[in-house]
Amino acid sequence: MPSFKRIPDAGNLTGKVALVRVDFNVPMENGLVTDDTRLRAAVDTVQSLRAAGAKVALLAHFGRPKGERIAEMSLAPIAGAFSKVLGANVSFIADCKGDHVKTAIADLDPAGVILLENTRLCKGEEKGDMELAKEIAALGDLYVNDAFSAAHRRHVSTAVLAELLPAYAGMTMEAELDALDKALGAPERPVMAIVGGAKVSSKIDLLKNLVSKVDMLAIGGGMANTFLAADGVNVGKSLCEHDLAATVREIQAAAKASGCEILLPKDVVVAKEFKANAENRTCGLGDIGADDMVLDAGAATITSLTQALSRAKTVIWNGPLGAFELTPFDTATVKVAEAAAKLAKDGALVAVAGGGDTVAALNHAGVAGDFTFISTAGGAFLEWMEGKELPGVEALLQ
Ligand code: AMP
Repeated sequence: MPSFKRIPDAGNLTGKVALVRVDFNVPMENGLVTDDTRLRAAVDTVQSLRAAGAKVALLAHFGRPKGERIAEMSLAPIAGAFSKVLGANVSFIADCKGDHVKTAIADLDPAGVILLENTRLCKGEEKGDMELAKEIAALGDLYVNDAFSAAHRRHVSTAVLAELLPAYAGMTMEAELDALDKALGAPERPVMAIVGGAKVSSKIDLLKNLVSKVDMLAIGGGMANTFLAADGVNVGKSLCEHDLAATVREIQAAAKASGCEILLPKDVVVAKEFKANAENRTCGLGDIGADDMVLDAGAATITSLTQALSRAKTVIWNGPLGAFELTPFDTATVKVAEAAAKLAKDGALVAVAGGGDTVAALNHAGVAGDFTFISTAGGAFLEWMEGKELPGVEALLQ
């Protein structure tokens, strides 16, 4: 596991001010937070800093105001919501730099918490501007990054502050990095990756990185159609990127060179309409009709993926195996997720998942709680799966 400093390394923080980058980009309706998962994720870090004696100034973005003051993108309503989740008063100041902010922090009670305004309202935040970074850094004594989900950006609040202040990983960041390391950094082998979803074109880098790292790569969903078509299977009217045949062959060659076995569907569920409960049938790969759409993997594929999972010690999953929003085309996703969750619950498998629709698909399967770790980080999770360096994580490395 790459080494970075954690909050206990900071020692006694009495009277110090911790600038803490959190992810408070929560869904809201009519001024109310509709899902407080991200607020809850920040609690441990904030409490451990307070317990060490620090005052906490929270930095976060909300939406994409692009440096303009837009009332709907103010973090003001989040202070009250986080206050409830934290069980302590959280004040708010409508700015994230300047002497008045410094005074507001100085006026906090010991171990007090203040939420600063949306960092993206400050011009320079998204450019990683050093002048802005110096102004924000002047507000605190140390920097803690607890927002893995924003770590794929080199913004002032997600990375540059780490160059100016002693920098630590928050507890949510630490848990995420730990889980990701177990999945791809230094995993127990064999490692299986399951990659599904709509298109190969959006996941080329991800597939190329995975074939060099994992022992088995199962491809499902619309992406599998592109692979099957490149192998000469007639996929009828299915979602398929026929122009990516050369890319598919490149990925297959890279997999062969690094000893990664690619698992494609052996049988499929086809329908003539893309809608829930459309009339459907399961068929072999040679039986797909010219007006059929492949919407899910078939029973034989589910069995073979479940068997592959039982040979694996680690699985990393991104993307559904079929059009999971439409019953019964959620079957392969649900059954394979159930199998992975059971193995993980029994301690036989490290099961890590994340990115895009994956969280929704596993929640739909009702098994998210049994996975070893589910990342809600979206873009950062995908870039990490692509093998890219994440500026926010790199900045924390010792
Ligand atoms: P992604 O965002 O790339 O992970 O893609 C997720 C989307 O892919 C979901 O909305 C699924 O309904 C869709 N999808 C998965 N398999 C298929 C398929 N065989 N045909 C059409 N859409 C699919």
